[in-house]
Amino acid sequence: MLGKSVIRAITAPTDGSFNLCDHDPAWRDTQDLRALSEKQLKKRAKVYLERGHKSLTECQEKLYADNRYSLLVIFQAMDAAGKDTTIKHVMSGINPQGCQVTSFKHPSATELDHTFLWRYSQALPRRGMIGIFNRSYYEEVLVVRVHRELVAAQRIPGKNGGAGFWKSRFRDINAFERHLTQNGTVILKFFLNLSKEEQRQRFIERLTNKDKLWKYDPSDLRDRSHWDSYQHAYQETIAHTSSPWAPWHIIPADNKWVMRALVSGVISDTIGALDIDFPKLPKHRVSEIKVALKSLRSE
Ligand code: ATP
Ligand code: MG
Repeated sequence: MLGKSVIRAITAPTDGSFNLCDHDPAWRDTQDLRALSEKQLKKRAKVYLERGHKSLTECQEKLYADNRYSLLVIFQAMDAAGKDTTIKHVMSGINPQGCQVTSFKHPSATELDHTFLWRYSQALPRRGMIGIFNRSYYEEVLVVRVHRELVAAQRIPGKNGGAGFWKSRFRDINAFERHLTQNGTVILKFFLNLSKEEQRQRFIERLTNKDKLWKYDPSDLRDRSHWDSYQHAYQETIAHTSSPWAPWHIIPADNKWVMRALVSGVISDTIGALDIDFPKLPKHRVSEIKVALKSLRSE
């Protein structure tokens, strides 16, 4: 379980006072973690992840059997923050039948013919299931805000793109999430907070390592050139949409192992705290089982 001080440090306040500058992308928790070498840190994080996998596997079975809640896990980040590998590491070992990952790219023509929450609603997890959004409806107030021409492509009547427009999107998102949580969907939102310098290093690595070259996308550099606009959009988004029913978690992303261990900790603590259990069998089913057992044993 994550300590209270860690949870406090990585959970965005829900009263609008969030300030991204308070969150260090290279944050390493306590003094003892800071003293560890990279190798020792990785070792410790792996033990932690292992523990997280065990408890997640157990909880996932209960979530499925209980069949009342669903879990929606949202990942948002700048490019190269490690969304894909975090999903891979944190969710490894869980039953793929109970989990679905959806990655959201540029919307299609059909998606643009609908309102901005439509395509995300289609991918929501059913009861008993875990749904992971690799990018999400938050792109509608992030990339769409930074690249204003994307608003025009949505063909919404009226004046669009001003301060009031984004505030009304935040209100819609808060209401959407309120609706979901009131009906059994638990929402976990992670912003993987990468520094500009660490992103630079990772891009250089991609461009100089032949096994990573395929990951390079020219739009990565285009978006990097809008770094400050993105930071501003994240600041505004998190301040307006960190709510008591769906708070944001700001995960330091400069160290991949710290990041993965923290995400795993938040997910397993959250499912572990739900009032879920394997359903109790009604009396008539208990006697049915006794009869079945008797018949099998006497074959
Ligand atoms: P990778 O780690 O592989 O780069 P990625 O999530 O960046 O993963 P890409 O295929 O590179 O995936 O990029 C998806 C692109 O789609 C991103 O640039 C993202 O901003 C964009 N996108 C996502 N949702 C929307 C949206 N609603 N409107 C416009 N663009 C969007
Ligand atoms: Mg990309």
